[in-house]
Amino acid sequence: MATAKQLRFVDEFMVDRNASRAYQAAGYTAKGNSAEVAACRLLRDPEIQALVEQREADLRERVEVRQEQVVDLLWDIARADANDLIQHRRLCCRYCYGDGHRYQRTAGERERDVALWEAEQREAQDDAPVTAFDEMGGIGYHKLKAPNPDCPECFGEGVSDIFIPDTRLLTGPARTLYAGVKVMKNSIEVKMHSRVDTLNKVGQHLGMFKEVHEHRGAVGIVDVSEHVTADMKERVAKEMLRGAGYAFDDE
Ligand SMILES: [Zn+2]
Repeated sequence: MATAKQLRFVDEFMVDRNASRAYQAAGYTAKGNSAEVAACRLLRDPEIQALVEQREADLRERVEVRQEQVVDLLWDIARADANDLIQHRRLCCRYCYGDGHRYQRTAGERERDVALWEAEQREAQDDAPVTAFDEMGGIGYHKLKAPNPDCPECFGEGVSDIFIPDTRLLTGPARTLYAGVKVMKNSIEVKMHSRVDTLNKVGQHLGMFKEVHEHRGAVGIVDVSEHVTADMKERVAKEMLRGAGYAFDDE
């Protein structure tokens, strides 16, 4: 069983892997060369070795979990659909579904127009001819219906409409893609994380590209793929292929 001092030594050693510094920080009294010798001896102790190896394994696991979380987030952004954040839609026009392709009202609009017509009738001169209320294309206008291809007014193209959903309700990739809104005087901008930047990051993470690292004054090319587990590579590669339309047997 390791002593409290020995455990402290392991803790300190994990900070910077400097055995003699860890030895002194743990409260041992030896100094200088004798500290170095004693620290090395302590480090070779099988029990201490096992503790260090356990700490290293824990650290590796935590790093892998973090890397996976980062890759998951990046992948969410890369595969998210911008339509979940903002949509440009073509919707039916007022004439698409009206009787005889005449202007179509909603029930509420008809009610208001009837009231206006009645007021006009009351104010009209007694000798003015009585005009019937014009029902035009009837009621039932529903702005979310698709354009009618036979419409003689919009020729099936409908009208342009911009829709931004309630961003509080976003889930999954769309929520990760969302980066806030910018409200301007006459417009609103829905901000998104860059999918191209993100794909680059995912690619770098998978070692698809070589990354240039500056290390101790020398510039070298480092293959970053060694930090990625085989399982992560397979998963992300599958996702990419799936995005390109491939299917897998295990689904
Ligand atoms: Zn129409």
